Amino acid sequence: MITFSNIDGTPVYYWRSTYGDTSSRNWQVTQAFYDRMVLWIRDLRSLSSAYGTITYLVSAGFYVNKAGQHGAGTAMDLDHVRWSSGTTISPIDRAHASGTQQIRRRYLAVDATCRRRFRYVLDGWYNSEHADHIHSDFEDLPPRCVKGSVSDTVFVQSMCNNFLNSGLAVDGDWGPLTQSAFNTAKSRLGVTGDPHTTSSVWVSMLNTVAQRGFANQAF
Ligand SMILES: [Zn+2]
Repeated sequence: MITFSNIDGTPVYYWRSTYGDTSSRNWQVTQAFYDRMVLWIRDLRSLSSAYGTITYLVSAGFYVNKAGQHGAGTAMDLDHVRWSSGTTISPIDRAHASGTQQIRRRYLAVDATCRRRFRYVLDGWYNSEHADHIHSDFEDLPPRCVKGSVSDTVFVQSMCNNFLNSGLAVDGDWGPLTQSAFNTAKSRLGVTGDPHTTSSVWVSMLNTVAQRGFANQAF
């Protein structure tokens, strides 16, 4: 386990005691997980550069003394991102359920960046425990879109609703309506190959989803 207070130079704060606190804080993860987070934040910086640089991140936790991925030091709970332009995305404020489509699309863009580097991502549509943060961990890599996975299916359903206006129930059940909307999304984004079995196809598709999300553009 290593101790860090920033990811690749970007500070990571903690707001669960005091909202808005910007004092330095020490966190712990494994070196391998830290290295993966560096790749993630570099993706995020690159994809969101129109917002300026990333001023800081806010997390609810990484290593926590409990069972599972957090206990192994291989998980991240993302609460908030702030850019130098003043733009933010705030899972801690339940941005996934915002009444503003642009904010929901920005949340999905950040969600997509997490899914490019982590297969198991739990977001605000997954369950009420994750309504106020995006959880990413090392389980079940490499990244790909697993139809039998509730975490992947609610992301796809929310993506289709917010970029294609598909009107799907976000229930985590990959049925024919979800399949049809996903087919349309793939077609409009020019995806070739199988994002369910070929990681590079899904990772590339997520890149495009993030671009559209940060730019607030429908598919
Ligand atoms: Zn978590």
